[in-house]
Amino acid sequence: MNFNWPPEPKFVPIPSEFHSLENDGPFDKCLKCEAELLQSGMPYLIERVFVQQEPIVEYAMCEACVMASQSELSAESRQAVTDYMLSNLDVSQRLGRLSEWAEQGSDDASELMNRCLFSGTRAEDCREKQIAAWCQGDQMRVDHVFPMMISGVAIEELNGVLSEKTRGWIDDFVGDNFGMPPEFCDNPDFRPVLI
Ligand SMILES: [Zn+2]
Repeated sequence: MNFNWPPEPKFVPIPSEFHSLENDGPFDKCLKCEAELLQSGMPYLIERVFVQQEPIVEYAMCEACVMASQSELSAESRQAVTDYMLSNLDVSQRLGRLSEWAEQGSDDASELMNRCLFSGTRAEDCREKQIAAWCQGDQMRVDHVFPMMISGVAIEELNGVLSEKTRGWIDDFVGDNFGMPPEFCDNPDFRPVLI
């Protein structure tokens, strides 16, 4: 038996699901520091939050700004999110799907996002969902976690493990950058989870 752990990441062209609605094309700069992303070669994270197919929050953030943001979250929240992921992520199922996908030799990684990474809920059955991917230039990294889709139910569960301080930090982040969407005000347990 030859276990490759972690599996070598593959790179595919960034699919349109990770394009910016606002740009009507790829994200090209970091939300926080406005660094250029497509030419610079630095890794960056894209996150988009949908309510009934409608993107309500979307951004790209360079690796340095992601690290800086994560360091602002409370240590207990970071640990709680890690614990949630470890106890809910079905690693062997994900690896199985990843190797099936790799065998097809396809650039289309959408099948890796058609179920919630944690609950297994199908994307079409999710009223809300959040998707996330690490990219470099015009390429998206495909590995044992990313790209990922998280169902609204799992997002609410994740919110449940966050500290008050972290919830406040995320609310400020969303409010400052996007204006707080009414969907979040209606449901205090639904806010994007910065990964
Ligand atoms: Zn940045």
